[in-house]
Amino acid sequence: MRLNPTRLNLNEKPKQANFSTALLSPSSMHGGLYAPTKLPKISMRKWLELSALSYEKLAAEIVSMFKFDVDEKIFKNAIKRYKNFDRPNQPVEFKKIDKNLYINELYHGPTRAFKDMALQPFGEILSQLAKKRDENYLIMCATSGDTGPATLKTFANTPNIKVVCLYPDGGTSDVQRLQMTSMKGENLKSIGIKGNFDDAQRALKTLLASQNFKDELAKSNLKLSAANSVNFGRILFQIVYHAYAYSKLIKNGALSKNESFDIIVPSGNFGNALGAYYAKKMGAKINKIKIVSNANNILTEFFTTGTYDLRNKSLIQTISPAMDILISSNVERLLFDKFGAVRTKELMDALTNQKFYKLTKAELESIKEDFEADFCTDKECEAFINEQASKGVIVDPHTATCFKMIDKTRINIITSTADWVKFTPSMLKACGLKAKGELEGLKAFAKAHKQEISPNILELFSTKILHPDVIAKEKIEDKILEWIKK
Ligand SMILES: *Cc1c(COP(=O)(O)O)cnc(C)c1O
Repeated sequence: MRLNPTRLNLNEKPKQANFSTALLSPSSMHGGLYAPTKLPKISMRKWLELSALSYEKLAAEIVSMFKFDVDEKIFKNAIKRYKNFDRPNQPVEFKKIDKNLYINELYHGPTRAFKDMALQPFGEILSQLAKKRDENYLIMCATSGDTGPATLKTFANTPNIKVVCLYPDGGTSDVQRLQMTSMKGENLKSIGIKGNFDDAQRALKTLLASQNFKDELAKSNLKLSAANSVNFGRILFQIVYHAYAYSKLIKNGALSKNESFDIIVPSGNFGNALGAYYAKKMGAKINKIKIVSNANNILTEFFTTGTYDLRNKSLIQTISPAMDILISSNVERLLFDKFGAVRTKELMDALTNQKFYKLTKAELESIKEDFEADFCTDKECEAFINEQASKGVIVDPHTATCFKMIDKTRINIITSTADWVKFTPSMLKACGLKAKGELEGLKAFAKAHKQEISPNILELFSTKILHPDVIAKEKIEDKILEWIKK
């Protein structure tokens, strides 16, 4: 299967790309993305077969249905990365927590957020493809706290890759910062930026667009790339865990024949939710994909009114920072899937030029067949954390927003995106606990709620800081080049 560009002019011919090309250079014509035009269909009989498989075997089956141009062996090795998770043969924990209510815990990987689910196999594939082509890449990322550790970790000591990760100094939890500043690997570099996440992201965009920077990298035989969530190589592995959840419902007999269920997804860049949409298109009996946001509720507005509107909006800092977002990049793939590349280009151009676009009534109806949306304030979120904790269900501030959208009359799956340990200060506040520092806080929360803290999180507080740099935005380029040339 080949992938199509999401943006086209009327009567323009699409330049398709193989999976491997789209993975190494994720930007398509007119600044668009790559997306599949048709998804493989899974029959009921096949779902029954899949429901008997382990996560890894199911992942291998689903990936192979796409018939991409990558050796089976590379995909196999990529999927083997799930052996680094808490339970080697079961990267995902799928649990029932109440009547009609399930939770799909996706954070049991090495950096304790669901980013590992896609980035672990993605890192293996990207590195192997680069090696095969005899190319070297500098992968850059800007992070609000979860993407950074997951990107560094997946590429640690992989061939043909160097990684630089920019994080806002003081803008992440201690655990997140320590994950980045203590990450081992000769090919890795974390840099703290004096500023907020926007500053880090802007610095990244400036570098990605800088010809001078690219020329300098070329002298060291390096090409520039980014590991952001618009890469289809990541989306592929985000389909799998939703399909796995469905297969579990089939296996444990929770769904009667032809009964459907809802999936609730705490959303930012919309990669996780898009994975659920593709799983639905492949035949998983998903009724609605429920999109939850925080006070940055641009997606709630879009899915309820059909208008994506950036005018007069500015970013609000919340206790679910991975969802603090205004431009949700993967929505473009939904537009492409529903309305085609010409209409998508029209809408995306309007967003660039007029700062908003509006769907027609019929288009909105089509989107509402698959999606619902709502948002959660920090206050509501804290109340959900506290209420659930009192029942022994510990959810991080992103996952907690899902409780806003539960419909007890049908089967719901909450998509759980991070381990609470990454957000200790917010967890303590929500549950009325106090502690001196973050380490004491971790221990206090764990004790109060009988939680185990994974050893690699506790170790962070005593490991050596390998990346101490915190610098002004203006110094980033020089700092990176200095490191590259060392
Ligand atoms: C990245 C992230 C999200 C948002 O996921 P998207 O795929 O960007 O919508 C939600 N929760 C956590 C904890 C995250 O790290």
